Amino acid sequence: MSAPVKPAPIKPASDPAVIEEAAAILKAGGLVAMPTETVYGLAADAGNPDAVARLYAAKGRPRFNPLIAHVAGPNMAWRLAGWPDLADQLAETFWPGPLTLVLPKRPDAPIADIANAGLDSIALRAPRHAAAQALIRAFDGPLVAPSANPSGGISPTTAQHVADGLGERIDLILDGGACPVGLESTVIALLGGTPTLLRPGGLARRQIEAITGRLAEPGSEDTLLAPGMMKSHYAPNATMRLNASAAEAGEVFLGFGPINGDLNLSPGGDLAEAATGLFAALRALDARGAARIAVAPIPDEGLGEAINDRLQRAAAPKDDLI
Ligand code: AMP
Ligand code: MG
Repeated sequence: MSAPVKPAPIKPASDPAVIEEAAAILKAGGLVAMPTETVYGLAADAGNPDAVARLYAAKGRPRFNPLIAHVAGPNMAWRLAGWPDLADQLAETFWPGPLTLVLPKRPDAPIADIANAGLDSIALRAPRHAAAQALIRAFDGPLVAPSANPSGGISPTTAQHVADGLGERIDLILDGGACPVGLESTVIALLGGTPTLLRPGGLARRQIEAITGRLAEPGSEDTLLAPGMMKSHYAPNATMRLNASAAEAGEVFLGFGPINGDLNLSPGGDLAEAATGLFAALRALDARGAARIAVAPIPDEGLGEAINDRLQRAAAPKDDLI
């Protein structure tokens, strides 16, 4: 019989000694959960295939789903990917922050093939959170960091969420408090042709389009299909009913604005506040053990596009993959 596995310690991300310890664990091929402004990421050395394989195994994530490499900023990005003028403008405006750029991977980039599913492109992001920045700089290289939760489940926005889902499978959890944005990054592809919105996220489409012009949809003529975008994702145990005006028997209800429920994402109708609290609210309602979570309508503007994307994936049948 195998010995019980010790849960990963939770340590304060604001302590420089803890950041040094975390960087040493990553250098040795270990797995460290780190706070970012979007959600908690599970970091591994992007150049170490064994570490990245361990990361996929810990999450139960399919290997055809490529990872985002996290960099300190453009200086680290240039070594990894072709860098068009548009990347420069976007990085200057939105980095560090919740925007991921998919770019042509440089053949000499120190990125393990398994990290980007063997594609000739690579997804890059410079996170804004001080702890993530400190860890990337202490490590002195790119870190892959998908959300620090079992694949398919609700993304973690606190250190405790990480401990609940992956505590026994990773080496260290850095606690930096609750994530301020609360939704994963917006992913856009700059691979020649029209810039394409692969995933709505924590940076609203219209802010990006002010620089890029209208973003194309994946699968449209001159664009690629986004790999690894699961239809079912971010899913609680309960089933979900969206655009509901009130709870039915056996449901718990997630309100928004004037439509109140067991919880309300933002009584004042603020979409940024709703985004920040979305995943914690789904976890809290799921923990009540109801068979179904009903959710009030969320306007599809601004961050509402990403909130509705996550809600639709949470509501999708779990065996229904693209
Ligand atoms: P996450 O699941 O939050 O780690 O985000 C990673 C997502 O970014 C994946 O599900 C992909 O859809 C997208 N992505 C990462 N790398 C690439 C790539 N090289 N090409 C297209 N999409 C990518
Ligand atoms: Mg995820």
